[in-house]
Amino acid sequence: MPIALYQFTVDGAADPGYAEALDLARHCADQYALNTMFGAGGGIAAASCWAAVAVVPGAAHPALYPVHAMFAGTPIAPFVPLGFGAVFGNSQMVNIRRQVVVPGFAGARHAERAALRGAGVAGLALHQIAANHAVLFVQLSPCGPCTNWLNGVPGRGAANPFAAAIAGALTLNVWYRWPHPAGVPNMVAWNGQTRTNQLNDINNNW
Ligand SMILES: [Zn+2]
Repeated sequence: MPIALYQFTVDGAADPGYAEALDLARHCADQYALNTMFGAGGGIAAASCWAAVAVVPGAAHPALYPVHAMFAGTPIAPFVPLGFGAVFGNSQMVNIRRQVVVPGFAGARHAERAALRGAGVAGLALHQIAANHAVLFVQLSPCGPCTNWLNGVPGRGAANPFAAAIAGALTLNVWYRWPHPAGVPNMVAWNGQTRTNQLNDINNNW
C-alpha cells in the first residue's frame, strides 16, 4: 500500500499509529539530548531532522521503555517496556560519517531513509500495531524524492529495504510534525529547546 501521512497537531488518536509515533518522538528527544550533552559540536545539531521507525525488538534493538520527563535518579513505577524497539535516523548523520564511523548507520541523507536503511541492514522486521500497519516518525514531512523512495520508486542511492512489503499489503503510517520545506525554521527552533520543553510540547500539544 502507499504510505499514509499524518501530521501531529492536525491528525490524532483516531488515526493508526498515533500512540506509537508519540513514543518514537519522545525517544528522539532523548537521543538528541544525549548527543548534545557533549556540548556544541558534540553531536547532531538542531538543523538535523530526526526520525525513528518501530521494529520488532531484538538483542541489538531491545524493547523501549516509556520516556518520562523526570530528573535523573528519580525512580518511576511501574517500569513496563513498550512492545517495540526503534531504529533512529538523523539527516545530519551523513555529515558526521565523513569524519568518523557511525555504528549502525547504513547511509542515506534524509532522516526517514536513514532509519529504514538502518533497520533493513540490521535485518529487523518492522513492528506492526495491527496486521500490515507499521509506524515511522519523522520531524518533517517526506520531501518528493523521499515520498517516492518510501513507496518503492527507484531513485538515487540504495532502495528502501521495505519497498516490496509496502508495495504489497503493508501500510507504513508516517507521522510528522512540520511540513517540508516550509516548516524547517520551526523545526530548527524547536530542536534548540530543552529536553523538558520538548517533552512537554509533545505530551501536551502533539
Ligand atoms: Zn527527503
